[in-house]
Amino acid sequence: MRINFKYLRPHSLNECLAVLATHGDESAILAGGTDLMISLRSGSRTPKFVLDISRLSEIRSVEQHAEVIKIGAILTYSELIAHPLIVKTFPALSAAMSCVGSLQIRNVGTLGGNIANSSPAADSIPPMMIHDAQVMIQKVNSVRIEKLEKLIVGPSSNTLEPDELITGIILKPVESAYKQSYRRIARRKSLSIARVNMAVSAKLDANGLIEDVRISVGSVAPTPLRIKKIEDSLIGLKPESKFIQETGELVARHIVDLVGVRHSTEYKRPAIAGLAIKCLEDVFID
Ligand SMILES: Cc1cc2nc3c(=O)[nH]c(=O)nc-3n(C[C@H](O)[C@H](O)[C@H](O)COP(=O)(O)OP(=O)(O)OC[C@H]3O[C@@H](n4cnc5c(N)ncnc54)[C@H](O)[C@@H]3O)c2cc1C
Repeated sequence: MRINFKYLRPHSLNECLAVLATHGDESAILAGGTDLMISLRSGSRTPKFVLDISRLSEIRSVEQHAEVIKIGAILTYSELIAHPLIVKTFPALSAAMSCVGSLQIRNVGTLGGNIANSSPAADSIPPMMIHDAQVMIQKVNSVRIEKLEKLIVGPSSNTLEPDELITGIILKPVESAYKQSYRRIARRKSLSIARVNMAVSAKLDANGLIEDVRISVGSVAPTPLRIKKIEDSLIGLKPESKFIQETGELVARHIVDLVGVRHSTEYKRPAIAGLAIKCLEDVFID
C-alpha cells in the first residue's frame, strides 16, 4: 500500500485547531505515532493530511491547580514516569504507564493518543478512571470537558469530532491515606497487550472499615469501566482475607453478568477474580 499524504506540523495550538476546522475530516492527528503509523502502513487509514502535534508547547506541561492536576495531552509516557509530581500523586497510573509497550514506545507514546485510540485494553485508562478523569477537548473558539468514561463509547470508538483535539487530561488527586494498585495480565512482561488490567484505589476509616474504594477494569468489555455497583457495596466492610477472596469472585461474576458469557469466559472469569484479589491485597493488606 502506497502511503500518500501531506505532512503538516503546525507551530501553535491555534494553527493546529484552524487546520482541523478546515481539513479535520481528511486529516489524521499524529502525536507519538505508535498507533497511527500502523494504520497508515496497513492502509486502514488513508488521510490526505497527517497533522503532527508532537511539538505543540501549549499542550506539553503538567499543571498543578488547587484541586486537580492537568496533564498535557502530548507528554510521553517516559516524560510522565520521570515526573515527580505524577509519580507521587498517581502511583497506579505511573505503574500502568511503565507497562506500556517497550522503552521505545514509551519514549514517544502519549496519554492523549491512548485515549483517542480508545482500545479496551489501554493501560492508562483504568488508572485514570479511578481519579474520575476528565478530558479537555478543544476546537476553534471552544473547549469542552468530557468525563473519560463518557468519551470512550466502544472499541476504537469515541465521541471526538474530526475538528477536535484532546489537549489535556484532568485528574483529581486523592489524600495520602489512599492506597493504590495497578496490575495486568498479559502474555509477556513487555510488548504485550493486557488480557485483563485493573486499577484499585481505597481508603480505610479510623476503625479499619472501607471508607472509599474505586475499581476500574480493562480488556473485559467494549470499554474500560468503573464498577460502581461493587464499589458501593463494599463501603463500611472490614477488608479481611476471606472478604478479599469473596470480593475477587464478586468482581468476576459482575463482569460476566455485564458482558455475557463468551468463548473467553472460561479463561477470563478466574483471571479477573485472581487479578482483583491481588489488587485488593495490595491496597488492604500489604
Ligand atoms: C509495539 C507496540 C506496543 C504497544 N503496547 C501498548 C501497551 O502495552 N499498552 C497500551 O495501552 N498501548 C500500547 N500500544 C499502543 C500505543 O502505544 C498507545 O495507544 C499510545 O498511547 C498511543 O499514543 P501515540 O501518541 O503514539 O498516538 P498516535 O499513534 O499518534 O495516535 C493514536 C490515535 O489517536 C489520535 N490522536 C493522538 N493524539 C490525539 C489528540 N491529542 N487528540 C485527538 N486525537 C489524537 C490519532 O489520530 C490516532 O488516531 C502499543 C503500540 C505498539 C506499536
